[in-house]
Amino acid sequence: MKKHNFSAGPCVLPQDVFKEASQAVLDFNNSGLSILEISHRSKDFVDVMDEARNLALELLGLEGKGYKALFLQGGASTQFLMVAHNILQNKAGYINTGTWSDKSIKEAKLFGEVVEVASSKNANYNYIPKGYSIPEGLDYLHITSNNTIFGTQVKDFPTTDCPLICDMSSDIFSRELDFSKFDLIYAGAQKNMGPAGATLVIVREDLLGKVTRVIPSMLDYQTHISKGSMFNTPPVFSVYVSMLTLRWLKNLGGIKAIEEINTRKATLLYSEIELNPLFNGFAAKEDRSSMNATFSLADGDLKETFDAMWKEAGINGLNGHRSVGGYRASMYNALSMDSVGVLVDVMSELERKA
Ligand SMILES: *Cc1c(COP(=O)(O)O)cnc(C)c1O
Repeated sequence: MKKHNFSAGPCVLPQDVFKEASQAVLDFNNSGLSILEISHRSKDFVDVMDEARNLALELLGLEGKGYKALFLQGGASTQFLMVAHNILQNKAGYINTGTWSDKSIKEAKLFGEVVEVASSKNANYNYIPKGYSIPEGLDYLHITSNNTIFGTQVKDFPTTDCPLICDMSSDIFSRELDFSKFDLIYAGAQKNMGPAGATLVIVREDLLGKVTRVIPSMLDYQTHISKGSMFNTPPVFSVYVSMLTLRWLKNLGGIKAIEEINTRKATLLYSEIELNPLFNGFAAKEDRSSMNATFSLADGDLKETFDAMWKEAGINGLNGHRSVGGYRASMYNALSMDSVGVLVDVMSELERKA
């Protein structure tokens, strides 16, 4: 039986995408060849790469606005250093809202001065800092839109004259934003877009070419732009499945349509967390993430019973990250309302039993 998969990443993808991808593993486009054995230079795959890059820009409303979309390797973690390597000349600002921001700061420090403009570390990252002032003269400001581990999400992005760079790994394509506010966006595929192995980078071309340091070819965005994201062998299967997921999203009605569904799912779960006295939410209410809900049991003695109940109900991936504890329900685009309903039923059943 198919599980209700609340895993934080890699995570649930649309069932139709799994079907189409498994067919392509056996025979891609009736070519008599598997997607896994064709050349990445073949027309069939070049078409996949082009469609994936175009769909990403189209869904974000960034077509024809000076942006390029790339599918790179090394995960979002490699973007922590590539961003700084390519763009940090003197000084950059970082908003520290969680483990991933913290790691991006560590990498940026290898390339220049880093100003931690705001941080919620003192409260174990359970909120998003607001009302901070942004210093002058930054090469860029870096922010993490959704904090996968702590379950907080930025609702209002800072307004600034300096370039804005965003790690959107865990909420890209989940909600409508003015994406043209950002000069560079990156996201590991495995949180909301596809299987692990590819990282989407969307960059304004005029942001590049300003640092004086020498950048090795593989780490230079301009290399990948000039080669259409085909400088070396791309992660073929991950790009292919990401393309299928983006097609699925477009057919569904794009980000506007999925945002409505995501909002309904999050509202259902957060209402239960609020109303059910057995559970406590972790994140500050106004900053709660619509993608990753973090919560814990008010009474730890109920853990064994609750864990047995959700497993029995076919739920997977609910354990919280070790730095928060408790539970984390990740509700990415492909998770159905049904699955959230099953979780909420288990939570209210626990209340009746306890
Ligand atoms: C998972 C995650 C990362 C790390 O991604 P990798 O692809 O494993 O390097 C970075 N940032 C955010 C917000 C994440 O959720």
